[in-house]
Amino acid sequence: MTILVTGGAGFIGANFVLDWLAQSDEPVVNLDKLTYAGNLDNLASLQGDARHTFVQGDIGDRALVQRLLAQHRPRAVLNFAAESHVDRSIHGPEDFIQTNVVGTFRLLEAVRAYWSSLPAPEAAAFRFLHVSTDEVFGSLGPHDAPFTEQHRYEPNSPYSASKAASDHLVRAWHHTYGLPVLTTNCSNNYGPYHFPEKLIPLMIVNALAGKPLPVYGDGQQVRDWLYVGDHCSAIRRVLHAGQPGQTYNIGGRNEKTNLEVVRTVCALLDELAPAPARAVVDARTGQPVRHYSELITFVTDRPGHDRRYAMDASKIERELGWTPAETFETGLRKTVRWYLDHPEWVQRVQSGAYRAWLAQHYGAA
Ligand code: NAD
Repeated sequence: MTILVTGGAGFIGANFVLDWLAQSDEPVVNLDKLTYAGNLDNLASLQGDARHTFVQGDIGDRALVQRLLAQHRPRAVLNFAAESHVDRSIHGPEDFIQTNVVGTFRLLEAVRAYWSSLPAPEAAAFRFLHVSTDEVFGSLGPHDAPFTEQHRYEPNSPYSASKAASDHLVRAWHHTYGLPVLTTNCSNNYGPYHFPEKLIPLMIVNALAGKPLPVYGDGQQVRDWLYVGDHCSAIRRVLHAGQPGQTYNIGGRNEKTNLEVVRTVCALLDELAPAPARAVVDARTGQPVRHYSELITFVTDRPGHDRRYAMDASKIERELGWTPAETFETGLRKTVRWYLDHPEWVQRVQSGAYRAWLAQHYGAA
């Protein structure tokens, strides 16, 4: 048996592939376009591991996907591939429509053709799992109840609108064609291998370099945070026991304002990597940094910035018996520790040297 993962060189996809192969010998075929966010360095520990087959390509390339499906005959396809960064979607929405909407459509069509060709028992056991986000539900007021699976879709950014469109396509392919799909909508993830344009890794990397820690607006936007390893365990659980056609919300019950998150990162860095001991200098003033929170800088808010997301994950807890293993405090400590222990990963991602590395190791660039 085999599974096909798309976007498995990105942040969550790579964590999932590593986690999967740490727990099972079932091979993974990993289809990833290697956009700026895809990084084979994340999967370096799998080099030479016959259970992992990496293919550079686009989920929108129907012929390629059909060939991979025919060749590897996976029992499941898990779709992590996406353009995922809200700020980038504001400045250039087109790639988001191409990959998240058109790409998902073409992937669904390739998968439908493959699934229809399977013998009945294999077709019945087959699953298409679509990884999505809480951002499709829009923004909550301070006293609103967290999003349930029944919450109406109200996406506000080009990113969330494109993900919402993909969720609707996946739903329609189940209702119209009977494709056995599962959709997961998860809150904000954090953890190892997170590209340093996202809030938590950006704060860690900037703080250690004495650079400003940019906080949008008043920093009171609330997000619900989940450690990426817990997201991976939830996806495994849904793949194993989820009901086709159902959607499952995944969250950590960790609502925090962005400012709280940044302050917590700073406090952990003060403890684990004190600025005076590392001789960190404030890049703006040239003065030594005593506490990393001195670097916090408020910047103009992002247009249409959602105020609050919060997930009600009681369905997956109740029906599938999943609960997160990490609290925000334990997960964040692990994350800060990981970035401190992997400066060369950060350096390669920032310098683009990993692209040269992958050209050398995989012949891809
Ligand atoms: P990411 O940007 O780190 O990784 C995306 C991966 O997809 C990259 O490796 C990229 O090269 C690949 N990719 C992009 N376009 C592709 C295409 N057309 N064909 C094949 N591969 C392509 O994103 P992430 O944070 O790992 O998110 C993974 C999924 O989880 C996304 O669908 C995202 O919407 C969803 N999600 C993310 C979060 C989060 O907090 N990061 C939370 C909930 C849901």
